[in-house]
Amino acid sequence: MKHGPSSESAVPTVTGFSPGFVALGLEAPLLATLETLGYEEPTPIQREAIPPLLAGRDLLGQAATGTGKTAAFALPMLQRLSHAARVRPSALVLVPTRELAIQVGEAVQRYGKELQVSVLPVYGGQAIGPQLHALKRGVDVVVATPGRALDHIRRGTLKLQEVRIVVLDEADEMLDMGFAEDLDAILVGTPKTKQTALFSATIPPRIRAIAHRHLQSPIEITIAKEPVKAGTAPRVQQTAYIVARPHRAAALARVIDVAGANSALVFCRTRLEVDEVTAMLTGRGHRAEAIHGGMSQGQRDRVMQAFKAGQTELLVATDVAARGLDIPQVSHVINYDLPSSAEIYVHRIGRTGRAGREGAAITILDPREQRLLRTIEQHTKARVTVLPIPSVADLRAKQLDRVQAAVEQVLRDAPLDAFKQLVERLSAHPPAEVAAAALKLLVRAQGGERQEQDIPAIPVRQSEFGRPIRDARHSDGRGHGGSSGVGRPQQGKRTVEMARLYIGVGREAGIRPGDLVGAIANEARINSNAIGAIEIEHRFSIVDVPTSMASGIIEVLGRARIKGRRVSVRLFRE
Ligand code: AMP
Repeated sequence: MKHGPSSESAVPTVTGFSPGFVALGLEAPLLATLETLGYEEPTPIQREAIPPLLAGRDLLGQAATGTGKTAAFALPMLQRLSHAARVRPSALVLVPTRELAIQVGEAVQRYGKELQVSVLPVYGGQAIGPQLHALKRGVDVVVATPGRALDHIRRGTLKLQEVRIVVLDEADEMLDMGFAEDLDAILVGTPKTKQTALFSATIPPRIRAIAHRHLQSPIEITIAKEPVKAGTAPRVQQTAYIVARPHRAAALARVIDVAGANSALVFCRTRLEVDEVTAMLTGRGHRAEAIHGGMSQGQRDRVMQAFKAGQTELLVATDVAARGLDIPQVSHVINYDLPSSAEIYVHRIGRTGRAGREGAAITILDPREQRLLRTIEQHTKARVTVLPIPSVADLRAKQLDRVQAAVEQVLRDAPLDAFKQLVERLSAHPPAEVAAAALKLLVRAQGGERQEQDIPAIPVRQSEFGRPIRDARHSDGRGHGGSSGVGRPQQGKRTVEMARLYIGVGREAGIRPGDLVGAIANEARINSNAIGAIEIEHRFSIVDVPTSMASGIIEVLGRARIKGRRVSVRLFRE
């Protein structure tokens, strides 16, 4: 880890760190952490949000997941807390789901590593005992879902009288889940002098109303900039694959194998990812090389020469490293991460499809980043087609196609006499058998016999894109359109086959859509985006879920409690 050259001087120096982050006013411990994480420069939301937050301003930020907004609020929060007298808890971050509470909690912990800040995620569906103990021992930052936070406040186990910073993350989603009143109830119990930051992917009037009630003269920032000027949007075939985090690397490998990319740029966000991805692709037999800001000029020149000479097929790069490079036309630009802004996306994909040639841009993205994809579509005025991750069968078929094409090429071009003699020496076997065995060897040499596993499909939010998106594995269109979605306005009809679940608890027990979404998402550990329409009746509720997940959900919900009660859960029959 670098700490700047003059560690003896009284004033901590920040030379040697990313100038972009230094310019925002971040100090050495955080800069050192960012360096270790391999962040080369701030994302647009970080550039705009960090200085006013460091100055103590309230902030209303329009930013979706994937823009780097967690660091945008966590870094200034950590720096400010490090300068203040320690009270516990001194910061509260509210998020809509358990999955986000864990994710944001981990991120805050990671960014605060050098500052030894303690972080506790607090969410429903988790036993309350350990949370009580941890809160009693004292933590600096609590990352909580609103329902559970309120629960603790009412028990007196979460005291907010001394909280200095409150962040509302994904505020629109918290409202969609029916948490508006809970948010108000939580915020009125916090000091007037606190700093508040509210982030939301959209800023409809009800978000504005919350901001009006709880933020003081906030700075407003939005990172969706004006559309690209006509003519500058590249003409490239754009596709995207939506895949859960744990399967991202496998999906990248699959997509590259199927695309048959022979000169491709693979973009990652951080140096660490560049190194990991390069190692993974090399391990699978690709000729891949890394290029990032942590390498010397000499190293970078060598890598570029090999790429230009066609010795390397895949160049794995960060945006910063790629920026100054004279990169030749490539067949594919592959985004291992959706870039943090539409501008960067356009810049990346401008490396392919030049001079009238065909180009393809492929993006792997997390289910939570679908909104950012829509921003990119609006920005580029071009369609990004979401496709299912190729299956193992697709991959095998593609490999055979490629072998066939290669064999046909050799049959056309090359003298084969020496090999014909070899076929004769094998004349104890029918020629077709010999040919098949030779092809098998060829496929094996190309990695075609490697063990592969199918990567789970993720349902696509149709309404995010305003048009149906076909998923080849669920293309019969038998979605449920009949029920009225309550409190889930983002959920439209989808191409994934849905099943209806009966849940034996309803309005009578004070159930709200957020309770059901929370219980299903948290207990069954599925993304809340996958949940469809919800109907709440007097004594029961009906929730649409993807058929493929129905039995798993029935099983875990049957063992769980919703609002403190055990409930019966089964498939709904009309
Ligand atoms: P978020 O929008 O906060 O969910 O962040 C999305 C991803 O971007 C996370 O994986 C972060 O680790 C990563 N990230 C955030 N800021 C930067 C940055 N300045 N450079 C590279 N990666 C970043």
